[in-house]
Amino acid sequence: MTFLRSRSGLAAAALAAALNLPGCAPAETPPAATAAGPAGLAGPTGPAEPEEVADTAPVPTQPTGAPALAPAPAPVAYVAAPVAAMPVAPVAATPDPTWPSVPYSDFMAATQDQARRQAFWSLFRAAEREAHQFPTSPARWVPLRRVIDLPPGGATGEWTTSGTIELKPDHNVGTMFHEIFHTVVHLSEFHTGGRDGAWTEALCDAFRYAAEQELLPGPPSKWEERITRYTTMTEQEVMGTGKSSSVKQKYHYPASLIVKRSGGTMAGFRSLWFQLIALKQQRGTEVLDDFFGYRPPQHTR
Ligand SMILES: [Zn+2]
Repeated sequence: MTFLRSRSGLAAAALAAALNLPGCAPAETPPAATAAGPAGLAGPTGPAEPEEVADTAPVPTQPTGAPALAPAPAPVAYVAAPVAAMPVAPVAATPDPTWPSVPYSDFMAATQDQARRQAFWSLFRAAEREAHQFPTSPARWVPLRRVIDLPPGGATGEWTTSGTIELKPDHNVGTMFHEIFHTVVHLSEFHTGGRDGAWTEALCDAFRYAAEQELLPGPPSKWEERITRYTTMTEQEVMGTGKSSSVKQKYHYPASLIVKRSGGTMAGFRSLWFQLIALKQQRGTEVLDDFFGYRPPQHTR
């Protein structure tokens, strides 16, 4: 029986692990080490920015009896010519002892849909573990404190700098993956007030793409299919397909450029991420517009 897509070995391991993590059985009493959350890094709540409501992706709900998450694989070599030709030193991620950050008691606690909560919880932990492989130091991670399941109505889902993710009832798990990566980008070397900050949403979508590929079973979501399709198209072709929108300009098209250069895998994206940080440190300038040959609209937070 073919259940999983033909994806990487990491995909199978991560998916299996996501479905049977220690603590997946919901426990309302959090471990003492994570109950209070890491101290000292909370910032003010930033301005809200609506996230796109993306296509529904399947969420696995059946345990598989698989072992706990395996360690993330070592980054693969990045082979894109412009960076590979440069003598940049790799920048290593620093393991963050604060993972996992959100206790189950603060994860979608008000939801009426416990099956959805549990499925999202497993995938949240798996995706957050991947995301923790990106910051170059623990200080570059905004501690996640709560994931809120908003009631139906006019509220808008968002990520805030205080470490809260708000999900609307129609948000799928792909949106959650995107929001998780805001905790990485926000304090990263790419978010220091310059042009690279315009790539924030695209970087979050590139992480979403890799996470959907590697953590979700079944066929690709329509969102993933669209990003994949854009990797074969020019900017003019993408903007000329249907309505040209700020979502395409800020999220989808630049995300497709990152996917194209990284291969779309988590390991490839992580390798590209560290190569670009090294390139930025070497040059002392903003690098993403030049590297990808595109200028997303300026970011607002
Ligand atoms: Zn976002």
